[in-house]
Amino acid sequence: MHASDVADDLVEVLFTEEQIQARVAELAAEIDRDYEGKDLVIVGVLRGAVMIMADLARSLKSHVEMDWMAVSSYGSGTKSSGVVRILKDLDADITNRHVLIVDEIIDTGLTLSWLTSSLRSRGPASVEIATLLRKPEALQMPVTARYVGWDIPNEFVVGYGLDYRERYRNLRDIGTLSPAVYS
Ligand code: IMP
Ligand code: MG
Repeated sequence: MHASDVADDLVEVLFTEEQIQARVAELAAEIDRDYEGKDLVIVGVLRGAVMIMADLARSLKSHVEMDWMAVSSYGSGTKSSGVVRILKDLDADITNRHVLIVDEIIDTGLTLSWLTSSLRSRGPASVEIATLLRKPEALQMPVTARYVGWDIPNEFVVGYGLDYRERYRNLRDIGTLSPAVYS
């Protein structure tokens, strides 16, 4: 769906499909350069990272293994629960391999700070993070992302994998959700 299909639910469109595609291609070019000649596994965090994983992986010019993890850190609302649990683990053995965790957003940083240390304990060559969005004002845990699409204000956003109660993930653009939708 396009932002025009859910115009009443959005306060504003933050990033259009075209802007997202262009930024993801820039991040892919950086990743290609930084990991040249290296054995790279990109790990998408289900379910939000599906869109960026698909676009990022296809923008890469190098070979890459795509793997997935599912963790629960959120309930169905708009606030972090503070609890992280593995629902689906990696299929790949990451020992001595370079790992790039791909996520759509860093909010409190809780999920990725926990996931990063969990993956680091498995003996990989390196673990880095790529995220499309980051909310610096919401950060509660020390998380360093090597690749960041954009920093955004501390507002609830939807689209391009980001959901509110499992809706809007299939929105092509990213927009600020109107408080009228969740109040
Ligand atoms: P954390 O607070 O950094 O642990 O964020 C964990 C997860 O919460 C993200 O991967 C998203 O799935 C979800 N999330 C955080 N902020 C937003 C938002 O603004 N819209 C939709 N989902 C969000
Ligand atoms: Mg997520």
